[in-house]
Amino acid sequence: MLLVLFLAALLWGVGHLMGAPRQARLYMIGLLYVAVLGLHLVLPYGHPIRMATGESAALWLLLGGGAVLVLIYRFGLGKLRARARAKEAAEAPPPQPGRFSEAELERYARHIVLRELGGQGQKKLHQGRVLVIGAGGLGAPALQYLAAAGVGTIGVIDDDTVENANLQRQVIHRDRDIGMPKVFSAQAAMRAQNPHVTVQPYHRRLTDDIAADLFADYDVILDGTDNFDSRYLANRTAAALGKPLVSGALSQWEGQLSVFDPAGGAPCYQCIFPQAPADGLAPSCAEAGVLGPLPGVVGAMMAVEAVKLLSDAGQPLRGEMLIYDALWGETRKIALRRRADCPVCGG
Ligand code: ZN
Repeated sequence: MLLVLFLAALLWGVGHLMGAPRQARLYMIGLLYVAVLGLHLVLPYGHPIRMATGESAALWLLLGGGAVLVLIYRFGLGKLRARARAKEAAEAPPPQPGRFSEAELERYARHIVLRELGGQGQKKLHQGRVLVIGAGGLGAPALQYLAAAGVGTIGVIDDDTVENANLQRQVIHRDRDIGMPKVFSAQAAMRAQNPHVTVQPYHRRLTDDIAADLFADYDVILDGTDNFDSRYLANRTAAALGKPLVSGALSQWEGQLSVFDPAGGAPCYQCIFPQAPADGLAPSCAEAGVLGPLPGVVGAMMAVEAVKLLSDAGQPLRGEMLIYDALWGETRKIALRRRADCPVCGG
């Protein structure tokens, strides 16, 4: 009998060392039990193997019966526990819409203690809807911080795919995302960072025929594009719908930022830049180069402006442009004025 128990312990120990799951080890011991029982039934009394394994089958049958009783008891206990858990879950109050869960309260605790934001401000962020045009240099950090801050619905429109040369500054995308549409790469990153927000990716270019319908779904528009056609289109559409447009731009070592909002008394983009510069006068990032962390600075500031607009905290950059010169570590603000003859917001 001791020999069989020793064999069982050996099976268990070796199985454990080899990383076999508990169930597989139990099966092996069950097989050993059946084999021993079989030997006792087949071999005549007095056979050396039978004598070495406990003489009589009755002993083994008793042991087996005991094991079966223990298993039945444990199975019943498991069922009872599952039933109790199901009852508990059914009786617990359902999560209330508009209420933060414990996990969310903890996640946003550093916001909630801010006097200018607080629980009410966090709730406004949660109910807020922000559309980001472009998931590139400016869009990447803006999207990351909007998601982390708990802006409830974040839309992102871009028709590009991630390229190797983007990764020096577009930190929402990773090396393994090369070749993937930027909006889906950005969506995956935001979801991984904060599962409590909704991300709406639009894998297409912003065009005249969709802009108005798209913008109508959002409270604040962030413009992080790098071409003037899209900038003028975003400005026209946002102004027509009365939505604030947080606009950022970059060139080499310098970034600029403003909130264009004619409905809020501020100028629009076209008041300040009446027409696109002639070809070649405003080189793109690909042509002129751009410092990697610079879009991080300006994109994060765009997220700050969006948070302020949604939560009514502080004073957004309406009618002002903030200019950051990274090479000399200088910032300055200039006042912007509406133009009476602006084709978008004048007259
Ligand atoms: Zn204007």
